[in-house]
Amino acid sequence: MMSAEKQSKPGLEGEVRFLRGIGSERAARLERLGIVTVKDLLFHRPRRYEDRRNIKCIRDAVVREAGTFCGRIVDQGEKRFRRRRGSLFEFIIEDGTGRLHCRWWNVSYMNGRFNTGDEVVVFGKVSSKAPLAIDHPETEVVGDDSMENSVHIGRIVPIYPLTEGLTQRWLRAVIWNALLEYSGFFDDASLVDRGSCDMSAAEAVRRIHFPEASEDVEKARTRLALEEFVGFQLELQRRRLRLMKSAKGLRCPGDNSLVRPFLRKLGFDLTGPQKRVLREIRADMSETRPMRRLLQGDVGAGKTVVAACAALMAVESGRNVALMAPTEILAEQHYRVFCEWFGDLDVGVDLVTGHRRLVGEAPGRRIVIGTHALIQEKFLIENLGLVVIDEQHRFGVMQRQKLVRKGVYPHLLVMTATPIPRTLGLTVYGDLDISLIDGLPPGRGRVRSFVRGPERLPKVWDFMQKKFQQGRQAYIVYPLIDESEKMGLKSVKRERKRLELELNPYRVGLLHGEMSSEEKARVMDEFRRGTVHALLSTPVVEVGLDVPNATVMLVENAERFGLAQLHQLRGRLCRGEHESFFIMVSETKTADARRRLGILEETSDGFRIAEADMMLRGPGEFLGMQQSGLPSFKFGSLTDDLELIKVARELALEILSGGTALNMPGGCA
Ligand code: ADP
Ligand code: MG
Repeated sequence: MMSAEKQSKPGLEGEVRFLRGIGSERAARLERLGIVTVKDLLFHRPRRYEDRRNIKCIRDAVVREAGTFCGRIVDQGEKRFRRRRGSLFEFIIEDGTGRLHCRWWNVSYMNGRFNTGDEVVVFGKVSSKAPLAIDHPETEVVGDDSMENSVHIGRIVPIYPLTEGLTQRWLRAVIWNALLEYSGFFDDASLVDRGSCDMSAAEAVRRIHFPEASEDVEKARTRLALEEFVGFQLELQRRRLRLMKSAKGLRCPGDNSLVRPFLRKLGFDLTGPQKRVLREIRADMSETRPMRRLLQGDVGAGKTVVAACAALMAVESGRNVALMAPTEILAEQHYRVFCEWFGDLDVGVDLVTGHRRLVGEAPGRRIVIGTHALIQEKFLIENLGLVVIDEQHRFGVMQRQKLVRKGVYPHLLVMTATPIPRTLGLTVYGDLDISLIDGLPPGRGRVRSFVRGPERLPKVWDFMQKKFQQGRQAYIVYPLIDESEKMGLKSVKRERKRLELELNPYRVGLLHGEMSSEEKARVMDEFRRGTVHALLSTPVVEVGLDVPNATVMLVENAERFGLAQLHQLRGRLCRGEHESFFIMVSETKTADARRRLGILEETSDGFRIAEADMMLRGPGEFLGMQQSGLPSFKFGSLTDDLELIKVARELALEILSGGTALNMPGGCA
């Protein structure tokens, strides 16, 4: 039941401009911080805290140590330096134990902001002893109202992200008041009752702003993060349930009439994990509700052959199949491989890319392989039983949905070679079931990885020549197609001549995204046949290419690539039985960048690399933010909160299964 008071107020979704002390002008400024509703305001996360329980005496200031000091401004002024064209603004505060100079170099806006006699709190690292000074301290004028000061002094105070025209002190007071008035509006029945957390939402919000001890902050953050993750998981799972309930899939159990002869002629046996994953897929496809499955497996794990079997199952069941790849080169490769594999089976294989449309001769049941062109409006595949999306990380969630809407909810198999850190697996792909091919097929040569400085390049050319003599081939990868303003980066077009000289008499082929489909297909073909020895390329080779005879890869300007991307590139090697060599050349001098690349020297475990990469670059960068469909969490962290995400997922499933009656905000039908 809502109390009378609650009914008369607009509640958490009410707009902040109706709060006391916030007019339309300030509301507009708050909006720049993303704050429109009371809830936004209360969830405005402090960027850090300042411990003002211990305001230090100026007398006790220690050089190079940070501290908070409070005193009255006894003098202030601005100096301009003609010659050096700079300025210095400073004021001096006194607290009865000493004097402290607060200085701002070359900032014009400080002058005129303070009055001599103002009481101020300053925070910063003491930079010099004579005079005792802090440069660019955080500063706040303390009012005369001692009641109000209890919000700003003598406690751990929040420091917020701000925008022009708002002060810390004002925002802190506004949030303080909002907390007093609105804490009661949080629905605390939700998560506390399940025993999954011992802090109420209201208390967590209070403590994230005004912690009583520094440990409070992390406890409160965790609590609010859980709230966020549960909300997101509920959304995902509801969407999934809706689909499962309403969507009719086409049963595609198959009868092995194609799969069996295919496997017999394949030339190798499926590995244990491949067989297990196929069983999972078959079980899904035998149902009338559509499969939604993510197939994860490190580069080279052998996902294509699993996709081929799934495709044959659908075809056996009288349905058509669409297989979508992120690049033309990869679509062409799949097309070539599938044509070879299915050559004497009664299956039509088509290729549809932006430039080419090849329709197989066999009539009837088809497997259509293509790029983005497959999701264009005009293109419609009838009787679609299965959609396979290869290398999912290149496609956004939206594209995934678009393709699936084409038919009557075909089964969906999404394959990714970028091992996804589990936190992301559970969020971005939280609406998919996950199958994992762990381990590589047997008989693979090993790969050795090295990070080297550019001065070692002559040695690398010698080494490559030696490998060419032994009949092997090499990839050479540069970040750019053309020269650009970006200094110091190599481009394939410019380096080609030099490489032809270095590697003479061996042949160098060029591959990059601006070439026509025919040109690309031609050079790939030459590389496959071995008439081109070194393939000089931009990172377009990153995805999926499979040329077992290529055993050396050189990546220059390696520091420019993400770890997961380098791991992908490296995945082009070790496709056959020969030992492979992955050489990263980088000029980078910083220890950090060196350590980063060093991770690749140490491990070839894709999951470890993906996790390290996400830690270093953040989840958004890792996935490619715009298309990732990733929500932005204010309190939750996709790099650190794996345990919490797991708990949230469990909770969401429990809530939706209706196991325990529960009063979640928003209700759950
Ligand atoms: P990815 O999982 O990176 O897409 P691919 O499907 O391209 O890997 O497979 C890499 C190579 O391994 C291919 O040449 C493929 O034919 C081969 N392969 C796949 N499964 C097996 C297996 N069970 N035994 C031997 N080789 C295999
Ligand atoms: Mg692949």
